[in-house]
Amino acid sequence: MGFTTDQIHAGVTPDPVTGSILTPIYQSTTYVQPSVDEYLSRGFSYSRTANPTVKALEAKLTELEGCAATAAFSTGMAAIHATLVAFLSAGDHAIISDVAYGGTYRLCTQVLTRFGVEFTFADTSKPEEVKAAVRDNTKMILTETPANPTMKCTDLAAISEIARAAGAVHAVDNTFLTPYFQRPLELGADLVVYSTTKYMDGHNATVGGAVVSKTAELDEKVRFIQNSTGSIMSPQVAWLTLQGIKTLSIRMDRQSANAMAIAKFLEAHPKVAQVAYPGLESFSQHELASRQATGYGAMLWFEVKGGLDAGKILMDNVKLWSLAENLGSVESLITHPVTMTHAAVEKAERDRVGIIDGLVRLSVGLEDAEDLIAALDDALKLVP
Ligand SMILES: *Cc1c(COP(=O)(O)O)cnc(C)c1O
Repeated sequence: MGFTTDQIHAGVTPDPVTGSILTPIYQSTTYVQPSVDEYLSRGFSYSRTANPTVKALEAKLTELEGCAATAAFSTGMAAIHATLVAFLSAGDHAIISDVAYGGTYRLCTQVLTRFGVEFTFADTSKPEEVKAAVRDNTKMILTETPANPTMKCTDLAAISEIARAAGAVHAVDNTFLTPYFQRPLELGADLVVYSTTKYMDGHNATVGGAVVSKTAELDEKVRFIQNSTGSIMSPQVAWLTLQGIKTLSIRMDRQSANAMAIAKFLEAHPKVAQVAYPGLESFSQHELASRQATGYGAMLWFEVKGGLDAGKILMDNVKLWSLAENLGSVESLITHPVTMTHAAVEKAERDRVGIIDGLVRLSVGLEDAEDLIAALDDALKLVP
């Protein structure tokens, strides 16, 4: 079946008791067992370990991703935390994309280093730099592509090969493109992590996460951490995410088309200094982005001439675009990563990796492209 058919039907069947076409929200802590000898015969014991609504979402993601198993988490950060903790112990080393979600950087530098795990933040867009960073104790490579917020892309097949040679696990944060546009497991990765908060939900309604595993063995390790730390997704969030995913491909197609139109508008605007969108031919890694994914997504950034001061005038005055964190929703959002999503990254590190002060990030939504462009055009008129 095609992706759009699967996103609607995979993993869910009408409720056998009532015929309810949607998987019910199983709001229950515990599950009564038929007898001591039949403990777990129906698959559920306690909702920190497994829940039927969450399980339906996991089954859908497993089928969409074409993987062995999926574990759904309370947030994207809980999913990333479980991924790192499942495969890293004191004395181990991990290589992380030097441009990544700000929370990932904070988790590594301010939490996991306290437990004796070492990290190298490498420019994963340069495979030779990753290769050079590999040590005897390297157990994991975590990449994010396109990366939040600079849109830097990483060649997933090349990094998977380096990980395999090093005996390390390659995990990919695929939040920006989803399995509809980019399929890391087919490019050699072992694990894929998601903030389902973003495109999977798509409606600014929940926070959630998922870890998709290539093999049952990997999934078992992740699930052990999930159960031990108590970071499973709640049934209501799973139910909302199940509904969101049914329109994922349609939203991604339309939001990407909107993003392309907006990127072209900004590129031609005299008050705009630079625009970065993987779909533009001017994007430095356009060839890689075109080769490794089937779409460019709906995230982009630009800088207004005049830098941060000019950018603030735009962000504070633009209509229709909401100034907010989050991305991937039907509502278009405008974000200043330096003060918002990436405030946990020190200025020197931001400067080193290209998160410039004037960087304005756009999460392009599902509104009419003409309206989104007109709103940006009006706001740019206010910039001197
Ligand atoms: C938002 C985001 C996360 C963190 O997810 P939460 O659901 O907010 O915990 C991780 N990675 C990327 C790329 C993100 O955009």
